[in-house]
Amino acid sequence: MIFGIFALLSTMIRAETATTEVTRDYCSLPDPIYADGVSAADFGAAGWSYANAANWADFVVTCGGSFQSPIEIVTSGSTQESVQPQINYKSKDANTAYEEANKPYTKEYEGEYSEIEVTDASGSVIRYYAKQFHIHTPSEHTIDGKYYDLEIHFVHQAIQDDEQDCNKVKNKLTVFGIMFQETASATDYEVFKPWFDSNATGEVESFDLNDFFSKMSDNTYYHYNGSLTTLPCSQTVNWVVFQQALPISSTQLKQFQDFLSDSTVFPIKHNNRPIQHLNGRKILKGTAIAASVTEIPDVEASFAQTLAMAILMIVFLIQ
Ligand SMILES: [Zn+2]
Repeated sequence: MIFGIFALLSTMIRAETATTEVTRDYCSLPDPIYADGVSAADFGAAGWSYANAANWADFVVTCGGSFQSPIEIVTSGSTQESVQPQINYKSKDANTAYEEANKPYTKEYEGEYSEIEVTDASGSVIRYYAKQFHIHTPSEHTIDGKYYDLEIHFVHQAIQDDEQDCNKVKNKLTVFGIMFQETASATDYEVFKPWFDSNATGEVESFDLNDFFSKMSDNTYYHYNGSLTTLPCSQTVNWVVFQQALPISSTQLKQFQDFLSDSTVFPIKHNNRPIQHLNGRKILKGTAIAASVTEIPDVEASFAQTLAMAILMIVFLIQ
């Protein structure tokens, strides 16, 4: 079902050193369908790896489903969406820092991030929080057959509260995929230093997605319905993959690749799942409209500021 195009008015993710307890109720993901005889305990590093990625359906039946990710994005086969809902990144309303999650198969940071509102083609507004981000190398999605050096996934999960009933949310996750390509002239990203540097403390103090979006001269993105690209492969993801790869320095690319080389889970030194069949799914295309945001607004002021900047930011295409 077609869903629409999104406008990202402003993008703010920020954490502070002071930690505040925040209660957020995320919509639960559907239970994965397990294969007979396989228990949830088998889904750790010992049970699966990228060396047996062709056989993940033996662990979880869902991994053999018809709406799996990643896919090859064939740009000539994509369809322009006609509806333009919005993604509105409100300012932070939590002070919890980003902590590195102990994931054996990627480098991942989890925290209490900003809220977004996504309006679908039917006019329904779905509210998500940006929940975690993690890294793949090389890229998982391909664009016209091309792999990129790195793909970062920014994962947003729908929330349950007085204003929103999880039962009415079809896709509980919206994930942004941004590509990075090694470029000789690239300078190091400050924001990557705590992620990639093995000597870092594992905590990210401040982060702004717009740092990346504002670097894109071509804001084309592709949207389709898919799945998690690791077990349990839940088919509950709105995928938004940006076309233009951003530059990354050899130094920072190598830092992440070195992380993989230290792990026993990566005998083949990559953590990208093989391309999955499209199975008739439509790939929808949109064009983002970018504008810069130079400061992180206060909680109270954020919505007003965002409205004042309503002409700005990024338009997304989502099914
Ligand atoms: Zn991922």
